[in-house]
Amino acid sequence: MFKSVLSIRGGPPVAKREDWPQWPRSFKSTEAAVTGALRSGRWSISGFRRHPGANLERQFAQQFAAFHDAIPTANGTASLTIALQALEIQPGDEVIVPGLVWVAPAVAVLAVNAVPVLVDVDPHTLCLDPAAVDRAITPRTRAIIVVHLYCSMADLDALQAIANHHGIPLIEDCAQTHGSVWNDRRAGTLGSVGIFSLHEGKPLACGEGGIAITNDDELASRMERLRANGRSYRPFTETNTFDLEEVGGVLGTNYAMSELQAALALDSLSRLEAENDLRAANAARLDRSLARLPGITPITRPAPVKRQTYYHYALHLDRSTLADRSISSICRALQSELNFWIHPPYVPLNRNLLYQPQSQPHRWWDDHYRSRIDPCQFHLPAAEHAHQNALVFHHSILLAEDAGMAKIEEAFAKVLGRAEEIPE
Ligand SMILES: *Cc1c(COP(=O)(O)O)cnc(C)c1O
Repeated sequence: MFKSVLSIRGGPPVAKREDWPQWPRSFKSTEAAVTGALRSGRWSISGFRRHPGANLERQFAQQFAAFHDAIPTANGTASLTIALQALEIQPGDEVIVPGLVWVAPAVAVLAVNAVPVLVDVDPHTLCLDPAAVDRAITPRTRAIIVVHLYCSMADLDALQAIANHHGIPLIEDCAQTHGSVWNDRRAGTLGSVGIFSLHEGKPLACGEGGIAITNDDELASRMERLRANGRSYRPFTETNTFDLEEVGGVLGTNYAMSELQAALALDSLSRLEAENDLRAANAARLDRSLARLPGITPITRPAPVKRQTYYHYALHLDRSTLADRSISSICRALQSELNFWIHPPYVPLNRNLLYQPQSQPHRWWDDHYRSRIDPCQFHLPAAEHAHQNALVFHHSILLAEDAGMAKIEEAFAKVLGRAEEIPE
């Protein structure tokens, strides 16, 4: 069926870069939103108030989370940091973090001088493994950060049970999932705090931004002040007053989302549900069609996942049926056909170049603390296996038309059907 030479060996590719949707997306409405924010003369939440309803960051917070208090922030890492601060995580406290994830959760734990305890993932979902969490709990464990990675969800029932049993909070890092549903509840609402990232690559995108949500009024009030140097919103009374009132009670810093980013966030939010539906439909199609190819298993989702959103679309590969080619060479061959980025999951945090606390000799950390945070001491075999036997690509590809999905199917069939021709 596939007569042509693999693209990586000089043959014609299946698809061109122009075949794929752009991300982040910008429409006339996006331009109007930004221009509106620009001309309003109010670019920051600590700007002067013009009239009620002119505050885009408030509008975004309300629209994002009609369900709960939402605190927009500068980025997802800032959201995690204020969550840890609001929960009063102390220096030296242990916080459980999955070993297969973007570095942000571990970095946020270090930012409050606590100890990130790297815990392995479930090999099927690639999310935090409750059994491994159970084994990692010590009398010093003070919180669990659970991440819903790529295109699945962690077992929230099991993790919630562990957190409850030990009387510690669960922080749900939903930086990669904006709208997944566990039983009848949205991701981010099951733990004590849920956080989201609005980085331009994320499914809800505004450039740089984050959100923290909680249904605990006290935590919400503390996080609101923590991200704005101790200030919080006051009700509108008159023009030419500041939106923010100097309340204090916490030592905050400036992690505020700007009004320009809130304008972009509102615009992106208006499309989120429709885009989530399209991505889910295309992912379901690929789960079915690609599973028929040699060596491919789709990612597992626990039964309580009633709605799945997608940050990256991930697949398990059995390389023993693929001529034992390395994951990077398989990714290169697929990428050469499809002309979008296809790559292995994160490098596990116990050997990740971006997570090297020992590169910080100037920090106050003493030798004891340094030895407790040393990433090398953690064993992450499932994360390591995933890094070498799975591949992922960006959610924007799932916004392509049927013809795009057909090209993905064609390219995977072409490359995986002739694995022995893939150059190492
Ligand atoms: C992107 C991401 C973050 C951090 O978000 P930023 O907005 O980049 O700070 C945190 N956790 C996870 C799982 C992420 O993917």
